[in-house]
Amino acid sequence: MGQVKEITSLANPVVKDLRALASKKMRDRAGLFLAEGLKLVIHALDLGWKIRTLVFSKTCSENVLIENTAARTIAVGGLVVKTSYKVMATITHRDNPQTVIGAFEKNWYNQEKADFRRSKLFLGLDRIRNPGNLGTIIRTADAAGVSSIILIGRTTEPFSLASVRATMGSIFAVQLYRMSEKKFIDWKRYFPGLVIGTHLSGAVDYRAIDYGNEPLILLMGNEQHGLSENLVAVCDRLARIPQAGQADSLNLAVATGIMLYELRRNNLKIDKRSA
Ligand code: SAM
Repeated sequence: MGQVKEITSLANPVVKDLRALASKKMRDRAGLFLAEGLKLVIHALDLGWKIRTLVFSKTCSENVLIENTAARTIAVGGLVVKTSYKVMATITHRDNPQTVIGAFEKNWYNQEKADFRRSKLFLGLDRIRNPGNLGTIIRTADAAGVSSIILIGRTTEPFSLASVRATMGSIFAVQLYRMSEKKFIDWKRYFPGLVIGTHLSGAVDYRAIDYGNEPLILLMGNEQHGLSENLVAVCDRLARIPQAGQADSLNLAVATGIMLYELRRNNLKIDKRSA
């Protein structure tokens, strides 16, 4: 493989810069984030995400897929690095790193593009704090065929290592918007469909609501505090998922999964040919 830089030292500046992407401040500064695993990196490239650096372990130099991926990276002006397992563990802050890592440009969608004529279902997340929850929700939304996700207020960053890992590649398949609560409420004024909030004191069983065919916004609340009062005020319905037993509430990601699958009930079918 030509044009591949071999790095052995942990002190190499390229390694230091990649390792620094574990911090939000550095991800913001560089506009980059890390994704781990060859399959994920190929998937991201196929979907048009811009790669800046491809890192692969020396142990898999003869792999044709890696050679192709390296060629694609070089073709778009990216850097390809071959290194040791130890260096890869340092970059990803884990003991058992994948053998391939990609540093990609972050991609936020503009609020202006959050167009309800194109997307029928938006998922709004109020001040979500836990990266594992966010990643799991992104993965679940993708599985349910929901790709427009709005992060409202101060949230955990979807491009953190923990969140990206939990998405299992779905980070590359969704459109992520971020809005302050005020911006969201302003944007929502022009929304022609229903806003469904989920709330522990919601008056209606989520299975009893007629969601209709209109575009919908599903709002999910913060892990600790639930939906803010301002957001509750813009909801057309407050849905509750019934619970038995002693649990106070459901985990946010689980509740989101239940709601999304209910809303997408008529759109999701098992493809018998692939069964
Ligand atoms: N202490 C918070 C409260 O009082 O709202 C608990 C929040 S709960 C862990 C996080 C979010 O998950 C909620 O805001 C809501 O969106 C959703 N959720 C969890 N359990 C739910 C349920 N049984 N019905 C409706 N939404 C639920």
